[in-house]
Amino acid sequence: MKKPLIVQKFGGTSVGSIERIHTVAEHIIKAKNDGNQVVVVVSAMSGETNRLMELAKQVDSVPTARELDVLLSAGEQVSMALLAMTLNKLGYAARSLTGAQAHIVTDNQHNDATIKHIDTSTIAALLEQNQIVIVAGFQGINDNGDITTLGRGGSDTSAVTLAGALRADECQIFTDVDGVYTCDPRIVKSAQKLMVIDFPSMEEMARKGAKVLHLPSVQYAWKNNVPLRVLSTFNTDDGSLVKGEECQSDICGLAIQRDMCVIKIEKEALASLKKQCQMLGVTIWNVIEHAEWVGVVIKHDAYARLELVFNDKIRNSEPVSLLTAVGLQVEGLIERSHTLLTEQGIEVEHYALNVRSLMLVLSPEYVDKAANILHDAYITSAQAVECQQKQAFLG
Ligand code: ASP
Ligand code: MG
Repeated sequence: MKKPLIVQKFGGTSVGSIERIHTVAEHIIKAKNDGNQVVVVVSAMSGETNRLMELAKQVDSVPTARELDVLLSAGEQVSMALLAMTLNKLGYAARSLTGAQAHIVTDNQHNDATIKHIDTSTIAALLEQNQIVIVAGFQGINDNGDITTLGRGGSDTSAVTLAGALRADECQIFTDVDGVYTCDPRIVKSAQKLMVIDFPSMEEMARKGAKVLHLPSVQYAWKNNVPLRVLSTFNTDDGSLVKGEECQSDICGLAIQRDMCVIKIEKEALASLKKQCQMLGVTIWNVIEHAEWVGVVIKHDAYARLELVFNDKIRNSEPVSLLTAVGLQVEGLIERSHTLLTEQGIEVEHYALNVRSLMLVLSPEYVDKAANILHDAYITSAQAVECQQKQAFLG
């Protein structure tokens, strides 16, 4: 009988030191000894991609995209080799592969490439030889043979896409948090772990800034129905499972996105700004319509790129943060949020309503406080009511 195949992905913190790589090896060995075939995807050691990025920025504030990919992909190459060596030393056959060696073929969009296809023959042959296969996350190769990277946090996408291509039985994303929470627990102490979250809600959380999973990884897993589990490297908990399409609660979570800015331009300039953004691959998060001007919300680091070509048309720019409530019942929340937040002296610059979310544009200094206020109002108290109802029902 064919053995089950699982893909395990370990993030930067999980491979952050030799000692931690040892802990990672233990998870892998356990899965292997349980009778699975195991393919592992690793990130760079924590802080490493940032360090490399800093070096590049010292050379040029807008480094050559191709060379940046050559540089950044080195981070994952370090951790994959250290992990394979650790497994070998512990007596397990393991082989590390770069994105190119694993035949992960992407488009040409350097620094933000998309995987086009994966030829799994090399990995399959190694699994056949009973090897544990370690693949570098975040990287691939384009048709010219150049190294590409998938955008920050892209190792999740590598893992999920590999799981799809290999028809894996489960894709496990090991990280430093033990699951998907209703909000970032470092900011909102009362945030709670979700045992299960549906794909559409998870997608919207990731799109609006929840860092726990990289957006394309969620979209890919959803489309290909790859069961996705988020779990901690540092405990043995079952984590959170992302599956299905049915949303369980009115408001399932709050996402926070920092380091954004609103650039204000004349109304007439909007069409050409949109075109420039498209050409530069800059995502517009929101457009704020005002009587005299238009505000365009983009990531702060994209601003430097845009400024190069659009400077004369930009009136001014101001830093903002975004707080987004994700769920099915968001329509009624604008007024209530407005009341709750103004009572505490927090001014919301703009509200943007989508099918599954309500986004608040705020000054960065207020976002953490606002997250706590809205979490208490919409999630913690809703759960308390539900609990009371259950108790009343049970007598
Ligand atoms: N090392 C890359 C980053 O820091 C990719 C990843 O960790 O997923 O963004
Ligand atoms: Mg990550």
